[in-house]
Amino acid sequence: FNGKIPPMPWFGMDIGGTLSKLVFFEPKDSITAQTEDETQLLFNVTKYLTKNSAYGKSGHRDAHQQMNNVKICNRIGTLHFIRFPTSEMNNFLELSKKKGMAASVSTVCATGGGAFKFEEMFKNELNLKLCKCDELDSLIRGLLFTVASNNNECYFWSQCTEDEQCSTQEYTFQYNKYPFIVVNIGSGVSVLAVYGPNNYKRISGTSIGGGTFLGLCSLLTGCNTFDEAIELAANGDNVKVDKLVRDIYGGSYSRFGLPGELVASSFGHMNSKEKRAQVSREDLARATLVTITNNIASIARMCALNERIDRVCFVGNFLRVNPISMKLLSHAMDYWSNGSQKAIFLNHEGYFGAIGCLLSFDE
Ligand code: ADP
Repeated sequence: FNGKIPPMPWFGMDIGGTLSKLVFFEPKDSITAQTEDETQLLFNVTKYLTKNSAYGKSGHRDAHQQMNNVKICNRIGTLHFIRFPTSEMNNFLELSKKKGMAASVSTVCATGGGAFKFEEMFKNELNLKLCKCDELDSLIRGLLFTVASNNNECYFWSQCTEDEQCSTQEYTFQYNKYPFIVVNIGSGVSVLAVYGPNNYKRISGTSIGGGTFLGLCSLLTGCNTFDEAIELAANGDNVKVDKLVRDIYGGSYSRFGLPGELVASSFGHMNSKEKRAQVSREDLARATLVTITNNIASIARMCALNERIDRVCFVGNFLRVNPISMKLLSHAMDYWSNGSQKAIFLNHEGYFGAIGCLLSFDE
């Protein structure tokens, strides 16, 4: 943007492998627009986006995540958060055309792989130019901005050894103190070490992420959505599917500090025909969730240990409506590090890329 602030409306878009995230800034101050046209267009777009919470068949606004009184480029306003499956991109483009959203903007800041993949489509269908930002730059920028703007953005799970007592507590994240680690669990996983506002590196990653959970869970249970998969997992028991240390030792393997309840072999019971006959869809969903989550926890722990960093922020939409994974991650980090590593979670879990992208002209 060469230092110039683009006309409103301001959008930031993160087109991921599974979900597309759209952040919209609604100005609430009394500064008037430059032209009459600008006012009318902004009014129409704002009305459509803020009066509805569902768009077409698959677009959702996360009203509970709305951020009020945010300051961007010296303007005060509200940030709105919208998501839809990336597989519905055609319908999104059609709806944008129909609702006049595309006519109201000439450039949209976009990040994620889809900013590249769909660039031509945006140009041809909407005559819209995508201003592409790097997704990890955007993620860090969005995260730092959100934590700085929102006192109650961060939380942690306390007492996760006792399931009944495990609950969330607000966490005062000293975001201006470095370093810290960010584990972004989307379709796949990226692990970043952040040393300063413009200084980070991608230290690790794994293809076994949220997409893997949903893919395997769909195969094993026939579920159709992520929310359904999580619901199934909440009502299942992985102990029927996984082989535990106690299934092998009859108790704990105390010489090396391995408790009997620890999973020794994920899905280890499923080679037995009898055991297979005893498991439910719920148990399979739970075991899939536990397997994927524990694997991510291991990688996160080793990264934190290698980098000698103790604060680990877990973000990404895999954690959406997913307290089971958050508790598991918290417990794993705490237990295996003897309490020295801390798992931190953020309320806007999946939206930091889109937020950072919207902020890209405010540099
Ligand atoms: P990406 O940018 O790769 O799409 P996200 O951070 O948006 O990554 O996370 C995508 C993951 O979030 C999915 O793989 C799935 O595990 C989980 N998820 C949460 N909510 C949904 C949803 N409504 N639809 C599909 N996947 C969802």
